[in-house]
Amino acid sequence: MSTEIETKCIHEGWKPKNGEPRQLPIYQSTTFKYDTSDEMGRLFDLEDDGYFYSRLANPTTDAVAKKICELEGGYAALLTSSGQAANFFAVFNICEAGDHILSTSSIYGGTYNLFGVTMKKMGIECTFADPTLPEEELAKLIKPNTKAVFGETITNPTVSILDIEKFTHLAHSHGVPLIVDNTFATPVNCRPIEWGADIVVHSTTKYMDGHAVTLGGCIVDSGNFSWADHADKFPGLTMPDESYHGITYTERFGKGAYITKATSQLMRDLGSVQTPQNAFYLNLGLETLPLRMKKHCENALAVAKFLNSHKKVLWVHYAGLEGDEYHELAKKYMPSGTCGVLSFAIKGGRQKSIDFMDKLKFISIVTHVADAKSCILHPASHTHRQMTDEQLRDAGVDPGLIRLSVGIENIDDILADIAQALE
Ligand SMILES: *Cc1c(COP(=O)(O)O)cnc(C)c1O
Repeated sequence: MSTEIETKCIHEGWKPKNGEPRQLPIYQSTTFKYDTSDEMGRLFDLEDDGYFYSRLANPTTDAVAKKICELEGGYAALLTSSGQAANFFAVFNICEAGDHILSTSSIYGGTYNLFGVTMKKMGIECTFADPTLPEEELAKLIKPNTKAVFGETITNPTVSILDIEKFTHLAHSHGVPLIVDNTFATPVNCRPIEWGADIVVHSTTKYMDGHAVTLGGCIVDSGNFSWADHADKFPGLTMPDESYHGITYTERFGKGAYITKATSQLMRDLGSVQTPQNAFYLNLGLETLPLRMKKHCENALAVAKFLNSHKKVLWVHYAGLEGDEYHELAKKYMPSGTCGVLSFAIKGGRQKSIDFMDKLKFISIVTHVADAKSCILHPASHTHRQMTDEQLRDAGVDPGLIRLSVGIENIDDILADIAQALE
């Protein structure tokens, strides 16, 4: 039976059998018991399915990964301790020293640092490209050692929309996968795999959790990219893994090769697991995700319209807004709404933006976005403060830009708070 996303958010993942708990149980156990040493041995050889140590797999986290996998329409998924870990694993699973990736330039500051600084120290080079360039221009930035193309469906904090089909075509015509960070849109509003993306990553810390209680990440593999067709590019998947008794992931696991490798190699060695307790909170958030996304989008559109017609506001970016430069792409990829985050700038520059933020009452200044409470941030003085003005401009971030994450409070109260702070 195929069901709609609201139903999947409630019923996928944990499916209790007769007499079992209705709600997902928290398997708060590092380890799992077996009767014979042979049974345990077969688990280590990846010959049998089963749990043995929670760094590799745990029933609670698995159930939640399964739910997100179903929401995205993927083949297999893995939870991680944070969105940063998810992005790192997603790329490092198919890259090593000497390799290169192509990423769009307007991405989350943490990911920009990860690709541009930390992974560079590991010998993996990243080219950041303006996503609005035509495909022929982008193609010139792909090199023989390029192993992946990366972008965000809705960028944080500039809230521009990725032309997923253009980037899928670019990646696939060079024999590499497209990895898409779908944190802001969530699978409720956009499912990149349906548009050809191969791997989807999430910071579940944002809307999926939705209440600002737990850090988390997720990697979903569509199972659609044929690693074996490009075997020379992806030896980690298509050649024997000496650290795992010479297993060749593509031969042994087929469509499950990518996630099995990420689990049995990267998670085993780097250990950025999501805890069962955090997965439980995440699962609660997922149950109400469609309701909250709808409300976030309605409220954000009302705020965007209000700001757009306010005399003290210089500009507003919200793809849901008629006339926004990304409105057409938003209509195509996210017809039922984008997200609750918008960005804008106040006339009079940087200091006026700071004054405005200090006058807000319940809309709070926090380093977070995408939860139930309205909150606000000035990237140039907060999240992106390690970046130079030039890097900020390259990433499409105006130093006066204010990022507003519109919550699910009553819209009249939200507008009143903004209005009084602008006065
Ligand atoms: C927050 C965020 C991340 C990083 O996630 P954490 O859970 O904070 O590690 C990655 N990508 C996007 C788009 C984000 O908004």
